Amino acid sequence: MNLSAENLPDRIRLLMKLRTSGISDTRVLSAMESIPREIFVPDSFRDKAYDDTALPIDSGQTISQPSVVAWMTWALQVTDRMRVLEVGTGSGYQAAILAKLCRMVYTVERHKDLLKVAEERFKQLKLSNIMTLAGDGSKGWKVAAPFDRIIVTAAAHSVPAALLDQLAEGGIMVIPVGSDTEQLLLRIEKTPNGIEQQHLMSVRFVPLIEGGKMTHTRHNTTSAA
Ligand code: SAH
Repeated sequence: MNLSAENLPDRIRLLMKLRTSGISDTRVLSAMESIPREIFVPDSFRDKAYDDTALPIDSGQTISQPSVVAWMTWALQVTDRMRVLEVGTGSGYQAAILAKLCRMVYTVERHKDLLKVAEERFKQLKLSNIMTLAGDGSKGWKVAAPFDRIIVTAAAHSVPAALLDQLAEGGIMVIPVGSDTEQLLLRIEKTPNGIEQQHLMSVRFVPLIEGGKMTHTRHNTTSAA
């Protein structure tokens, strides 16, 4: 049997690439291994689903690059007891990976059409620990706060105050901050002595659009009515 990299299934090849690029956290790697990225990309890009690149999705948005998803997930240091807020559901890929690692994911998306498709994917994968909300995630999700972890997957000009407020004491937030074309990924920790901030890497995300009201909530779980 020939075990050269070209003959391995695409998903395994991507995992090997992530590993060689320095991601060694086995929980993050196995969560990524268990989520089929091909169902989160448009049909026309299916053959590129396991390339390490961002890809276009509907409504002019993007599904993030797998290595950036891996680094952000790693930087969050999620455990299985945690409640995690994601701002920017997009395709739902990042939320699905988080759902494998924590107790409950709360994900907010301003494009209802994207959210609807993401919810169908969560159902298809039988991920019952994801709650979804259509609206402006820069305001967080007040009734469900505080959150142990917050991940923002759209670029903010500055860290939204509501998100800092809704981060639990001891909590960690990962968020790209900068201009619309260039951003730094920040890891923010709320410690008893105040906010500690670390720069992780430069990244490029679509902008976080602030403003607009929350229109309605929907739960994709059958039991959460
Ligand atoms: N996490 C996604 C990638 C998201 S792309 C994935 O895994 O596929 C960023 C998303 O943030 C887009 O879908 C965009 O519509 C959304 N977004 C931008 N501003 C937002 C806001 N204020 N509130 C909620 N979602 C927002």
